[in-house]
Amino acid sequence: MREILLVRYGEVFLKGQNRPFFMRKLIDHVKLAVSGVGGRVWMSEGRIYVSDFSDLDECIRRVTKVFGVHSVSPAVEMEKGDFEAICRQAVQMMRPLSGTFKVLARRSDKRYPLDSPAIMREAGGYILSELPNLRVDVNNPDHVLTIEIRDHAYLSVRREMAVGGMPMGTNGKACLLLSGGIDSPVAGYMIAKRGVELCCVHYHSFPYTSERAREKVLELARLLSEYCGKMRVYVVPFTEIQMQIHQKCPENYTTLIMRRYMMRIAQILAQKEGAQALITGESIGQVASQTMEALGCTDEVADMPVFRPCIGMDKSEIIERAERIGTFETSSLPYEDCCTVFTPKHPATHPRKELIAKAELALDGEALIAAAVAGAEAVNVG
Ligand code: ATP
Ligand code: MG
Repeated sequence: MREILLVRYGEVFLKGQNRPFFMRKLIDHVKLAVSGVGGRVWMSEGRIYVSDFSDLDECIRRVTKVFGVHSVSPAVEMEKGDFEAICRQAVQMMRPLSGTFKVLARRSDKRYPLDSPAIMREAGGYILSELPNLRVDVNNPDHVLTIEIRDHAYLSVRREMAVGGMPMGTNGKACLLLSGGIDSPVAGYMIAKRGVELCCVHYHSFPYTSERAREKVLELARLLSEYCGKMRVYVVPFTEIQMQIHQKCPENYTTLIMRRYMMRIAQILAQKEGAQALITGESIGQVASQTMEALGCTDEVADMPVFRPCIGMDKSEIIERAERIGTFETSSLPYEDCCTVFTPKHPATHPRKELIAKAELALDGEALIAAAVAGAEAVNVG
């Protein structure tokens, strides 16, 4: 008899012919997640198991962050031959609990002498006779004791929900424009959850933005990497571009022109990284540069798809998600962002593309972009 961690996966099931590929990825990520705290990871009959861990809680914390994992349960694995021993073990696991319960049985070993209804009946009766403070409620129980009869018997009462999604690396790669704000880490998380690998680009305007602002963004990237694994963050010098825009372009268009430069540079770095799309944290109408016309002007300079998973979310919903994934606190640190440094008083909310393109003629775009790309510092996180 020993304690193991039972790992259930979700949508990977749907993937027909590609399933072995998805499963391999998922298992690799579970292995990577538990390295250092868990020993063996293996698969059998549609489940992943982890055993020989040194720290169960840490193991759970890590595995529930693996995209593709639906839920986990710490379970006891034991010989299935002695049914009374199984019932005794069930009692031991239920003893600390109170309220109502039900027994759920699954029998994939069809030669087992008891069928599922019999297992539920017998084990349920045994528990009731030993623990009279518990009551049965089959419809809405406080606790569910699951008994699975496979190669061994597996008993579990606790279930922790995991992040869901698809295994990392099964759906290509995208480049996240990562600011120090609340929205962009959430946007990156949402796309990564669909199995998309990430790389990041961050623009900083030293000396207007500080070293601490840079560190904050790298910490956000590190927090994201707890879900999506190691990734590269390009820290791009943006001061010269902002200064030139500020000096040479009409004030009401400066924010949008700056955003277009961000897209252009991100796209070059994305291509270098083999990424096929860009991700930003915009949400319709949140600020002047996020009206539909403004987004249209920003998109115009990108040849790749631009994903904006926060586009239909309220700020409160984005904050809730940021809290859940653990980035909110860091995002809330009060360091300046390059966008806030040269904010115009009256940004255009209904910009016209042709006027922006004309305003941009005042800049030596190619040289500015080349210099920014050349000055980009690649930092590996995770
Ligand atoms: P966030 O909370 O993500 O900073 P925001 O609501 O402050 O978003 P903006 O400042 O208009 O919105 O930025 C819109 C998007 O542009 C961000 O979500 C991010 O994807 C990108 N972005 C903004 N500033 C930077 C930056 N300094 N470096 C990289 N990307 C940036
Ligand atoms: Mg911002």
